[in-house]
Amino acid sequence: MTPHVLVTGGGRGIGRATAIACGARGWSVTVNYARDSVSADATAAAVVAAGGNATAIRADVTREADVVRLFDEAVAAHGALSGAVINAGVVAPALPLAEMSAERLRRMFDTNVYGAYLCARECARRLPRNRGGSGGAIVLVSSAAARLGSPGEYVDYAGSKAALDTLTLGLAKELAAEGVRVNAVRPGLIDTDIHASGGQPDRARRLGALTPMGRPGRAEEVAEAIVWLLDARSSYTTGALLDVAGGR
Ligand code: NAP
Repeated sequence: MTPHVLVTGGGRGIGRATAIACGARGWSVTVNYARDSVSADATAAAVVAAGGNATAIRADVTREADVVRLFDEAVAAHGALSGAVINAGVVAPALPLAEMSAERLRRMFDTNVYGAYLCARECARRLPRNRGGSGGAIVLVSSAAARLGSPGEYVDYAGSKAALDTLTLGLAKELAAEGVRVNAVRPGLIDTDIHASGGQPDRARRLGALTPMGRPGRAEEVAEAIVWLLDARSSYTTGALLDVAGGR
């Protein structure tokens, strides 16, 4: 059976590169997005051009009904899921904690933590063998920020990603005996649109130059690590937090 992977936030950036890398292996991909249907449709077309099958589905991961519908529609389009990449995430402008509004904190934790937990829960309801699934692999997209703390910039974002590291450790143990592996990647400074959404479009290039490898990473470099964790080649790897951060 053709593997089927759902990628949340798959229309742009790391999610887009991951969707295309899955397509290049001939897999079916559900490309989730929140608002940008043009990018999501373009990503789905790129997955098909790479050799896979793809459907773009709009769903806000912060809404439970959207998340359940997303998983139902994904299965209707391409059959049971063999994997999911829980990737949708946001940042906000760099500020010290003392200056952060309650609205900002709520949006950060709603999207990056609550949304990710809802998606992981749907996976936990559908993939395990004792729930009628065939097993599979979940990859959470955390961040190097989880171990750096991001002082003066994004302590909210860093904390939200630390929650995903902890979810990875716990859920990996919860589902290991039922054929589901759960791992996380922790990207460093990757050149995507997310930095512009935080008000610093040049952030990855500027700070990437200061890392041990002297450059930012590319979304495709993160995608390769994610696809390895999805694939049976990583069959004895679960509960791992894989840094893809150029030595940062
Ligand atoms: P990006 O280019 O800004 O793309 C973010 C994606 O998430 C978009 O497709 C967006 O959908 C989607 N999204 C946002 N909120 C959503 C919601 N509520 N429901 C569904 N989808 C939602 O970001 P990126 O750099 O690729 O980041 C992807 C992940 O990697 C994030 O979790 C981020 O924290 C993490 N990460 C990134 C870096 C980096 O340096 N880039 C480093 C470490 C970790 P629309 O296209 O519809 O807006």
